[in-house]
Amino acid sequence: MPRLTKTLFRDLAIWMVAFGLLIGATFPLFALMLGIRPEHALNLRFYLATIGAGITAGGLNFLLARLVVRPRLRLLAQRMHVVADAIRRGTYDDERQACTLEQCLVTVDSRDELGEAAEAFNGLVAAMFRSYEVESAVSDFSRVLSSELDVGALAALALDQLMRHTGAGAGAVLINQGGELEVVASHGLVDSSTLAHSDHIRRAIRSGETVTLYYPPTLKLEALLAEFAPLEAYMTPVSFKSSPLGVVVLATAQPFSQDARKLLDVFRQSFGLALNNALAHHDMKRLAALDALTGAYNRRFGMSRLREEFRRAVRAKTPVGVLMADIDHFKTVNDTYGHLVGDRVLTTVTQTMRQALRDGDVLVRYGGEELMVILPGGSVGDCRHIAERIARRVRETAFTDADQAFHVTLSIGVASFPEVDAEEEQRLVGSADDALYTAKRQGRDRVVIAPATDPETAPLECEA
Ligand code: GH3
Ligand code: MG
Ligand code: MG
Repeated sequence: MPRLTKTLFRDLAIWMVAFGLLIGATFPLFALMLGIRPEHALNLRFYLATIGAGITAGGLNFLLARLVVRPRLRLLAQRMHVVADAIRRGTYDDERQACTLEQCLVTVDSRDELGEAAEAFNGLVAAMFRSYEVESAVSDFSRVLSSELDVGALAALALDQLMRHTGAGAGAVLINQGGELEVVASHGLVDSSTLAHSDHIRRAIRSGETVTLYYPPTLKLEALLAEFAPLEAYMTPVSFKSSPLGVVVLATAQPFSQDARKLLDVFRQSFGLALNNALAHHDMKRLAALDALTGAYNRRFGMSRLREEFRRAVRAKTPVGVLMADIDHFKTVNDTYGHLVGDRVLTTVTQTMRQALRDGDVLVRYGGEELMVILPGGSVGDCRHIAERIARRVRETAFTDADQAFHVTLSIGVASFPEVDAEEEQRLVGSADDALYTAKRQGRDRVVIAPATDPETAPLECEA
């Protein structure tokens, strides 16, 4: 139809009235055909009456059409304005809930082009809402994760969010520690430790591809041992710049939706970035705590660990021991064999000491060729036993330089709280140092126990 004016409804009005006019103008001819006599059908009054009726019918038709169609179009336009406004506001600030999904939608109540337009509009709004939801979930996820640098806490946070957004009922995060997988967070799994040995998880990390397992509802699970019967388990590798950092495992009693899978894919990229930061931070912290030559903890870190252990011991009324060990005549080793050999001796002595210690004991390079050991829970008896073991092993270690064999010995001072009733950890170190000095004075290559504060207990000294 050719356009007559700039308004569709005006065009429609013109067409309808014109059509009414046409009908009115031609009606007397039909009247003739119907047998009405020409003097009645073709007189001016009848002619004007049919034209009037035609125009009125055309006008009424137009009004009815306008009444039916216009409110729907108006509603559609009004909702479009609301949605456009919501988008505008949401673009620059976080105010995206200008209307709820229901408020933004229009009712589809006609099966024609109008209904189709309404349906298309609703589809557009729903897609936009979903896009906002995903976008804000991803940005929340990234924001939360970027604020956490502790690997364990980060993994727990990420797992919580992943489970919430995917509807998973159980899950775990495993980190790749030099080729070994370690569970750093888990939720809803009865025994997550078995996951580290799962072939499926290893396959996921090796291939860099997600592995999905489907369990028949009747199957009893060996590997996951979730607190419910999962229908699907999803193992997705987390990497940064194609180096594998770990795996996220999610298990669900309902199949994951397509949306959840896609969301997971986006999440794991953010998680990879945050995890890489946390691991780098962890490495940096670890490196900052270590002595470069010997690999033992440095003095700064050692003293802060001792402070923690001492406070814990005071609170829990448990013992804590300190060993101060010094290589005897080390200057002579340097002078005789050179500094490089001296370095090797120092490193070997440190390794020998570490091997003689228990898990949880802390070996510290206190300075030069002096090493400190913190023994949490170490009573005087334990400390003496360990000190003597260390002294013996070092004494038995043979060093060679240009076919020349030589040995070194240690003098060790021992102090244990509460026998040494120190008020602070520095006093305990001071007592161990005094005992070390006594050992040196008494001829070296020996262990000396610091005297107990209680005068009833005689100071113990023992030849190694
Ligand atoms: P004592 O039995 O009284 O402990 O005698 P000593 O010779 O071990 O003690 P002294 O304090 O006189 O000398 C310690 C030496 O340790 C001097 C220093 O050059 C050496 N030393 C300290 N740190 C290092 C190191 O990292 N590498 C090497 N090769 N030597 C070191
Ligand atoms: Mg020395
Ligand atoms: Mg010294």
